[in-house]
Amino acid sequence: MASPLLLDPAQPDPDFGDLLAARPHLSMHALDGLTVEEVPLARIAAAVGTPAWVYSAGALRRRARALTGALKSAGLRGSVHYAVKANTNLAVLRVLAGEGLGADVVSEGELRAARAAGIPASEIVFSGVGKTERELRLALGEDIAQINVESAEEVEMLSALAASLGRVARIGLRVNPDVDAKTHAKITTGRSENKFGVAFEDAPALYARMAALPGLRPVGIAMHIGSQITAGMAAYRAAYARMAELATALLARGLPVEQLDCGGGLGIPYRDEPAPTPEALAGAIAATLGPLNLPVMLEPGRWIAGPPGLLLASVVLQKQGTGRRFLVLDAAMNDLVRPAMYDAWHGILPVSPRDFAAATAPADVVGPVCETGDTFARGRALPSLQPGALVAFLDAGAYGAVMSSTYNMRPLAAEVLVDGARFAVVRDRQTHDAILAGQRLPGWLTEGTQP
Ligand SMILES: *Cc1c(COP(=O)(O)O)cnc(C)c1O
Repeated sequence: MASPLLLDPAQPDPDFGDLLAARPHLSMHALDGLTVEEVPLARIAAAVGTPAWVYSAGALRRRARALTGALKSAGLRGSVHYAVKANTNLAVLRVLAGEGLGADVVSEGELRAARAAGIPASEIVFSGVGKTERELRLALGEDIAQINVESAEEVEMLSALAASLGRVARIGLRVNPDVDAKTHAKITTGRSENKFGVAFEDAPALYARMAALPGLRPVGIAMHIGSQITAGMAAYRAAYARMAELATALLARGLPVEQLDCGGGLGIPYRDEPAPTPEALAGAIAATLGPLNLPVMLEPGRWIAGPPGLLLASVVLQKQGTGRRFLVLDAAMNDLVRPAMYDAWHGILPVSPRDFAAATAPADVVGPVCETGDTFARGRALPSLQPGALVAFLDAGAYGAVMSSTYNMRPLAAEVLVDGARFAVVRDRQTHDAILAGQRLPGWLTEGTQP
């Protein structure tokens, strides 16, 4: 498994002060405790309860600007299409729409969410290996900017559909560059054995076919090699060099290539991993694709939405096991699945100033779900925490709430947006009735019986 490879187990975890210093939207106050922008988390917990997701609008805006700024500084014409799957909350999308970001969507639901948040169809790209006819119909109806096709079969299907609707689909061809992004096996996408894109060797013939078919207008090439890429720029450079080679070959054959979709995947430092910057990514693009002088598109999700979000949870109890101390929280793997699914490391900070300053000892941090995998951290240096004490899981804004489930009949947690000194609930905590709604007992189970 590749994920822990960048976390050096010989290195001690960063301490609370280090974690805080690296996250400018967070601060610790002697009276108010851990604070997001200007709102103490204790205030949010009192108003909304826990578990709750908390997002910083200021951090979202800063990160959106850092990306668009990096493209500009590298002398690139380009646009940023936020990968909606990382965090689909409408308020988050609205903040990013306000920064002029477009969207990269992978389902009908995400397309609808992007539109509902005010992102214009002309700024939306539709990616994904299995778009249904219904989804393609919607995309054509909305006349979105670009549909990235991932197979010869999809090209034929989309051509027939667009032609039958009297539409012309602007399509990008997602090419699998067969490079190793050196990230977790579950989130690498640019190897030839992955399901994504078409083989590099097959791309020229398919692109020519796209140009010849009715209802289609090829506009460019797309690559997305994986997620949480922190191993430097080598994989990106290798992929973009192949993209440049392919674009040059297509142009030489007189085929239209108007723009280059460079995908997402930029990693973030969850612990203290060295992580690439937007400037490094823009530099890699400029070095490889710059000479083509075409507009480029970025599709970052995690880099934008991850660090601005946290998961706020309460301690249910502290349990002394055989040689281990367990901190049992009211948040669980159904809320934040990344540790269980990807062996992910999330910083965990106590919220109260007293807990923050108290002496620490190793603890296993777990949720109440009936799975051993419901473990957020093992042997983490944390103080002794009383029932009701608050803790914050850092960098949980991406692939957090969106991957939640109601496993163990646990309602989806509330979501809160902080903007300066203001905060608002941007998604209500789900009710138990809402989980049960839509379930039906068939008549033959209930006729003539008393419940
Ligand atoms: C998931 C995905 C992204 C975003 O990935 P991040 O690692 O969150 O930046 C971008 N493009 C495509 C096609 C994706 O599937």
